[in-house]
Amino acid sequence: MNKSNQKYLAAFIAQRIEMGESEWNVSLRPTFEKNLKKSVTPTYADHNLISQQTASSVVSEDVQSACSRSMFSDTLISGNDSLKELYGEVCGCKRCQLGSLRKNFVFGEGNPDADIMFIGEAPGAEEDAQGLPFVGRAGQFLTQMIEAIKLHRKDIFIANILKCRPPGNRDPRPEEIEMCEPILKRQIEIIKPQVICALGRISGQTLLRTGDTLGSLRGRVHNYHDVKLIVTYHPAALLRNYKWKRPAWEDLKFLRREYDGMEL
Ligand code: SF4
Repeated sequence: MNKSNQKYLAAFIAQRIEMGESEWNVSLRPTFEKNLKKSVTPTYADHNLISQQTASSVVSEDVQSACSRSMFSDTLISGNDSLKELYGEVCGCKRCQLGSLRKNFVFGEGNPDADIMFIGEAPGAEEDAQGLPFVGRAGQFLTQMIEAIKLHRKDIFIANILKCRPPGNRDPRPEEIEMCEPILKRQIEIIKPQVICALGRISGQTLLRTGDTLGSLRGRVHNYHDVKLIVTYHPAALLRNYKWKRPAWEDLKFLRREYDGMEL
């Protein structure tokens, strides 16, 4: 394995450890190195990598066929015409390759006037199947996390950076983020949250355009387009690694304090 691929392998293993996986099988067949290159997340330290493209260009270019599950626009985001309009504009998006691979577009759900938004990286298999964000085991745990800080899921808005599932739950690629993030930015502009909670390293790194570790991103208030942003563990990582639950609880208390000063 050459040096470049050693670097990819090291980054891959670091990611898996961060996600709480303690065992994995690695096959060094010739195709492995090729696949590894594709699957490892690059850092997002290069701010120029992801353009500051607006959602309107996504909307204007990518209104595709009618949305397969357009009823969600009524059930998930009722009461906000702008959000509904955005949903209608982008739910048929096929701007990146993931649009052709998804079962369902996963827009996000929750209170369109939420003060707090939770943002993960991308839908998983269950989310793709249902067209809803955070509905698997990790989603149930997220609901518990939200209730632990004395809020309800219906009070907040939950979304992902990518609206379509990457195959095999691989990490989002920079070009996919570049294409999709304008939709998230529009959601944030419409919802106008007071605080954003980025779930997991990839979400934090992507939103903040940094290659910093999760450890260094936690415990601080960042600025995401003039909205306070706090980074914590992804609920899937917490399910896999019990020892992160305590620091995650500290993050959640910090979030609540930053939101309205409540001490838990
Ligand atoms: S991931 Fe985003 S940019 Fe890509 S097809 Fe889905 S909605 Fe469009």
